[in-house]
Amino acid sequence: MSLQDIQSKIVAEETRVGRSAGSTQLIAVSKVQPNERVEAVLVQGHRIFGENKVQEAASKWPGFKDRFDGVELHLLGPLQTNKTKQAMELFDVIHSLDRLKLAKKLATLSKEIGQCPDLFIQVNTGKEEQKAGIMPEDADSFIAECRDLGLPIIGLMCIPPAEEEPSLHFALLAKIAKRNGLGGLSMGMSGDFERAIAQGATHVRVGSAIFGARDYG
Ligand SMILES: *Cc1c(COP(=O)(O)O)cnc(C)c1O
Repeated sequence: MSLQDIQSKIVAEETRVGRSAGSTQLIAVSKVQPNERVEAVLVQGHRIFGENKVQEAASKWPGFKDRFDGVELHLLGPLQTNKTKQAMELFDVIHSLDRLKLAKKLATLSKEIGQCPDLFIQVNTGKEEQKAGIMPEDADSFIAECRDLGLPIIGLMCIPPAEEEPSLHFALLAKIAKRNGLGGLSMGMSGDFERAIAQGATHVRVGSAIFGARDYG
């Protein structure tokens, strides 16, 4: 598939479920992809990209940002506390706020720097041991703590368990967001972004369906 195919599918799904066209932001997930593929998508005019690792983004994106105006970068992967400052300088949005220690670090640094990226709180909707994220039952209190710290929380993010129907997890995330007055929903990847849109996703994170398979070799 191509960027254009994915964009058309997004609009088709928005229309099908009665949402306005363009109400979902497409984050092109460029992690591990060769620079030529990323550049091709930049040349087509796309500007919103997602990366999983601070280090990889730091080596890849300053060069692209010099050549292409208006790039917006989203951090999707786990953030180590000692990389928080670098992440805040590099990324416009962080989707992986998943613990109080990181929230406190972000709050301290934003006072120092005078600004903070927009933040999504990651919720471990499947309660998977190996996955990051706040447990669903702890989400309300964690959101309140982050707000007390003055952090710009704009929404919630989840990565559903591979083996389960993602729509159930998307619906749970939407429910938690709604009762906490949060408008942003970062959910849906290559295999399930249409189902995420049906459940109200405001940000879908699509990698391989745009760029092709990732080669970790
Ligand atoms: C890699 C990744 C994606 C994109 O996955 P695809 O299946 O390639 O679309 C989305 N979100 C997160 C958090 C990821 O790590």
